[in-house]
Amino acid sequence: MSKVPYKIYLEEDEMPKAYQNLRAYMSEKPEPMLNPATLKPVTKEDMQAVFCDACIDQEFNVTDKFIEIPQPVFDFYKMYRPSPLVRAYNLEKLLDTPAEIYYKFEGTNTSGSHKLNSAVPQVYYAKQQGLTKLTTETGAGQWGTALSMASGFFGIDSTVYMVKVSSQQKPHRKAVMETYGTNVIPSPSETTEVGRAINEKYPGTGGSLGCAISEAVEVAVNTPNCRYVLGSVLDHVLLHQSIIGLESKIALDKYGITPDVVIGCVGGGSNFGGLISPFMAERLEGKNNIEFIAVEPASCPTLTRGKYAYDFGDIGKVTPLMKMYTLGSGFMPSPNHAGGLRYHGMNSTISKLYHDGYIKAVSYEQTKVFEAAKEFARVEGYLPAPESSHAIRAAIDEALKCRETGEKKKILFGLTGTGYFDLAGYQKFNSGELGDYIPTDEELETGFATLPQV
Ligand SMILES: *Cc1c(COP(=O)(O)O)cnc(C)c1O
Repeated sequence: MSKVPYKIYLEEDEMPKAYQNLRAYMSEKPEPMLNPATLKPVTKEDMQAVFCDACIDQEFNVTDKFIEIPQPVFDFYKMYRPSPLVRAYNLEKLLDTPAEIYYKFEGTNTSGSHKLNSAVPQVYYAKQQGLTKLTTETGAGQWGTALSMASGFFGIDSTVYMVKVSSQQKPHRKAVMETYGTNVIPSPSETTEVGRAINEKYPGTGGSLGCAISEAVEVAVNTPNCRYVLGSVLDHVLLHQSIIGLESKIALDKYGITPDVVIGCVGGGSNFGGLISPFMAERLEGKNNIEFIAVEPASCPTLTRGKYAYDFGDIGKVTPLMKMYTLGSGFMPSPNHAGGLRYHGMNSTISKLYHDGYIKAVSYEQTKVFEAAKEFARVEGYLPAPESSHAIRAAIDEALKCRETGEKKKILFGLTGTGYFDLAGYQKFNSGELGDYIPTDEELETGFATLPQV
């Protein structure tokens, strides 16, 4: 076998032609979503006022292992995919570890993260259905930017509710989205009922993803020919993100490499779910014994300290109930610098796999995460997003363990995005102003108290 190059490239014709549906491999499926009014499983019809039809079909599909990528979506992907799969030789050297470290970098497109992988099919399906408008929320701004790129390309109007604290930290995100033709509104806003109510209840709040979701959904259901799109949490988003894992596996297979550990950061679970997809599918088929590690911020510890319960996806309680690890939809995370990981819940498939012991979870404080980001940037070149740096932190710690034990583990992690829009966070870290915040048990209890009785 030839030496693994610094970057493993794929040809266009080696790219995956279909998404992989992880749920089709699970003998025990995740629990169904429930209608909060009836506590009966949600039907496709229940969701049609909110989501576009093709995404709903995918959301309910737990049997097809592969779902074809439409040609126009594939053609868009070719503009920025395949994404680089890098052997982190320089990081290995820095850490003096016998471990092999690989990462899949999703930050090469203008939106700066993996979110574009799902924005493209979602906008395409909406266009196919004859819809003319889309609404969504954005936390750190990556999803909003991804949606603006896709909607600009396919020619559909879009409105993005951006979590207020993020819009203040990252004013340039707004400029990018507006360039692609999107209408950007800081949330909580005065443009919706739920936004006005939150502003009254929590004056001066920096907002949260849960709140911005409520606003975007409220507008979607009250506007003709308009639907809501979501950049994480739901299973159709994980499905689209499987392209990350599929490309990674094709690249690694070229050199006969099977990872021992696969690591990803988790906000709503989409990049992690997508990255692990082909590896977890084989694990479920009994073909490997890979360790899967989900990494979250200590300030928003959904898997490590949350409850496995039915909960709403948003603070306004307009979504169906999902069985997931959650801190309670009323949980208000402290404004840390990994905006994309500040979500109270977790995708239900990831939650189920975690509950059943297939996935481990760890959490880190943000200063530890920025330390890892800085080490990584200096030897590997890329300036990582703070979200992605959670995975870097965990990968470094795994590699350091190997230095102790002498194990030659192969570590694959997802580098989900670039840090170019997170310079306020880096500035604070560099000047020593960045603090850590870990919620107390009492604070978590106030979030759990908002869980619905099911
Ligand atoms: C949104 C985002 C995340 C977290 O979202 P998931 O759905 O959990 O993948 C992680 N990294 C970056 C760069 C993001 O933009």
